[in-house]
Amino acid sequence: MKLTTKIILGLIAGAVVGIILNVAAPSVFNILDPYLFKPLGKIFLNLISMLVVPIVLFSIILGTAGLGDPKKLGRIGLKTISYFLITTCIAIIIGIGLAYIIKPGLAGHFDTASASFSAEKAPPVSDTLLNIIPKNPFGALNEGNMLQIIALAIFIGLALTALGEKTKGIYNLVEQGNEIMMYLVTLVMKFAPYGTFGLIASAIGSQGWNAIKAMGIYMIVVVLALIVHGVVTYGSAVALLARKNPLSFFKGFSPAMGVAFSTSSSNATLPISMETAQKNLKVPETISSFVQPLGATINMDGTAIMQGVATVFIAQVYHVDLSIGELATVVLTAVLASIGTAGVPGVGLILLAMVLSSVNLPVAGIGLILGIDRILDMARTAVNITGDASCAMIVAETEKRRTVKIQRGEKSA
Ligand code: ASP
Repeated sequence: MKLTTKIILGLIAGAVVGIILNVAAPSVFNILDPYLFKPLGKIFLNLISMLVVPIVLFSIILGTAGLGDPKKLGRIGLKTISYFLITTCIAIIIGIGLAYIIKPGLAGHFDTASASFSAEKAPPVSDTLLNIIPKNPFGALNEGNMLQIIALAIFIGLALTALGEKTKGIYNLVEQGNEIMMYLVTLVMKFAPYGTFGLIASAIGSQGWNAIKAMGIYMIVVVLALIVHGVVTYGSAVALLARKNPLSFFKGFSPAMGVAFSTSSSNATLPISMETAQKNLKVPETISSFVQPLGATINMDGTAIMQGVATVFIAQVYHVDLSIGELATVVLTAVLASIGTAGVPGVGLILLAMVLSSVNLPVAGIGLILGIDRILDMARTAVNITGDASCAMIVAETEKRRTVKIQRGEKSA
């Protein structure tokens, strides 16, 4: 059986077991969860998390050195960041639009009196951006600070290009380190079906069915917006910009989506999403290793969708009318929040507090969606990493066309 099929079976089996135990035998779930589901999930998460920092470091060093000239790096960087920002804006607008059409906040009675949420202090986005250059490179590696590791790796890559033969030894070392990591990803993936089973069973089994029913319409709006954005925005971007068949894109990338769905973490899924993009979508390593780690850190379309829907939902529940100006503020702050959201489970909700505060909506409203956010986190994380992969594919294909044009003499280098 193919690995993708096995992962999908793991997902379905986990969801079915989780729902059945939650509804029919919660006491059995309470016994199985700490001894079976959680350990399976934890082992898998630890295995892939173990590979994230070295993979990002090695692959971006090689990617930067492989691109050769800083001009090309700048061009790819510009394309990548523009794509990230534009698609994130589209994502929030889809979320807000659907929430206005379906009106989840007016469907049912929501107990605002007992809703509460104490917002953890999220660092201001300006801090995240100002701290991109690590004062202590080893500290950055130790903390797994993705943006700082990316900056460090780009500097080292540029230095390796400039020094050429003199640093061939280090280049070879990094190349071999990368080979080792990629080999380990393939090995760890063999455990993915069991890991996803444990993660999904644990997540679904512990989310009371009643809570899911009460928040049904809200959940439907978020999932619908995620599907529309995934299929329409990414589908047409892949077709128009990469000139590739969107169906092959989704099919090829599906194993990584399954893993993102179960782990709810773009960062943890990174080794697998990079490998999947390189092997199945034929994205060159130099581009994949630059675009995807950056995307896992700053591009969160799924999260932005949830924030757009949640903001309108909370406004409806509290009977607040948002003006066009306020909606524009929501779009802007959600884009910034998406940049500031780390690719780990649940952070999107913390950053939602920032979006709500920007238009003076009660942060306590987050208490209403808290109970079911774990499940939506799975779906939005899958969209988050699909956005990164679509970008990698588009950058790769446009670069390929550019090279062909230069070779034919239709364009100057
Ligand atoms: N779990 C998401 C991710 O890692 C972030 C979030 O929305 O909480 O991509």
